[in-house]
Amino acid sequence: MQNGRDVLIVGAGPAGLALAIALVDAGFSATVLDAQPREALANPAEDGRDIALTHASVATLRALGLWRRLLPEEIGRIREARVIDGDRQDSPLRFDAQGHGADALGWIVPNHALRRVSFEAAEERADLHLIDGAQALRVLTSDAHAELEYGAFPGAPDHLRARLLVGADSRFSWTRRQLGIAADLHDFGRTMIVCRMRHDMPHDDVAYECFGYERTLAVLPAVGRSSSIVVTTDAASAARLMALPDAAFAAMVERQFRGRLGRMALLGKRFPYPLVATYARRFAALRGALIGDAAVGMHPVTAHGYNLGLQSVASLTHALRAARLANQDIGDAGVLAGYERTHRRDSALVYHGTNAVAKLYASTSASQRFARRLILRGAEHLPPLKAAITARLVGRGGLEPPGAPV
Ligand SMILES: Cc1cc2nc3c(=O)[nH]c(=O)nc-3n(C[C@H](O)[C@H](O)[C@H](O)COP(=O)(O)OP(=O)(O)OC[C@H]3O[C@@H](n4cnc5c(N)ncnc54)[C@H](O)[C@@H]3O)c2cc1C
Repeated sequence: MQNGRDVLIVGAGPAGLALAIALVDAGFSATVLDAQPREALANPAEDGRDIALTHASVATLRALGLWRRLLPEEIGRIREARVIDGDRQDSPLRFDAQGHGADALGWIVPNHALRRVSFEAAEERADLHLIDGAQALRVLTSDAHAELEYGAFPGAPDHLRARLLVGADSRFSWTRRQLGIAADLHDFGRTMIVCRMRHDMPHDDVAYECFGYERTLAVLPAVGRSSSIVVTTDAASAARLMALPDAAFAAMVERQFRGRLGRMALLGKRFPYPLVATYARRFAALRGALIGDAAVGMHPVTAHGYNLGLQSVASLTHALRAARLANQDIGDAGVLAGYERTHRRDSALVYHGTNAVAKLYASTSASQRFARRLILRGAEHLPPLKAAITARLVGRGGLEPPGAPV
């Protein structure tokens, strides 16, 4: 039996690696296990996702030493966001950071770049042990420790033991099931197609969310004259859009976007993502906890999945640091219950609110269209609501430095 040390994390995705780095920097030892081979983790393939990041997330990425590893051409900036309803030309709802002491609402970075820099930073930590190409097979938890049986191929199953086991293995988490934690799943019956496009005209760092009646189009500013394109529609239409030749797909986007960016052309492939949101009923179990998408798998329309993932990293790290200071066991039920409370408070409203928005905007009925218009107009004319949404994007927070008082 190998010793998995303080914390054993299943899943070396961006959330699992961020937690491992944060814990090691805080003086814990951590082992991360992933089914993918080292080569795939070190050089992640493009997956079409561009991740919009809040100020708090960027503060966490800086604290972990990830932000400085990103290349300048990987960081887009969002100065302003506009929401457009139906066939209208104008934008009834706009957000910017003015009056919030910031010059940007957020940033936008490709998911594969976040994965790459997370792996690079993890490799540099001597107390961070990474086991790649390993399939997790069985979890056993007891009052004394958590144990994981895994198969690193080729060879017989191996075992790891730690004081705490953390599931960071995506929204369909295997670890979650092994810990006996139920989850609520919502299948939207819709698919999101993501890709990059270049265009003739500058985007001026403005992000657009265009709620059309058959499909939703988001255009997010990347570096230079290129944007991240997100088309959401029902599964059958998505299959048709995926089958279109590149030029016909580009023409469809250009048309729906009413030529605001001039001529548009695809850069690379399109990637389809069926939309299923998940919310774990508990974020903690006996000597176990969930973070990232394994805890909360968001609908991407409000761009909060990874932002919440980093929040779960900051909250769990804080709870474990506080436990150590109080000479408590880091796998203690009371310690994990504290993490559970914090992350539920941070995630419940945004999860259910996002699902409500996603359902409202997927509907084509006349009453729902009317409701959408009212909501957009209402939000524009309700300064406290707009301010609250903007504050969530530009607000301070994130991972506290290892030496900070707990
Ligand atoms: C189209 C799209 C757009 C998005 N846009 C945004 C955005 O703008 N802003 C934002 O904040 N978020 C966004 N997200 C969400 C964001 O991508 C996710 O929240 C984030 O990638 C989840 O990271 P994770 O580490 O929790 O999980 P994952 O990235 O899914 O990683 C899980 C890891 O676990 C490993 N694994 C799985 N099962 C096992 C097992 N049994 N044994 C061992 N290893 C295992 C996998 O190999 C993988 O490496 C978007 C998502 C999508 C789909």
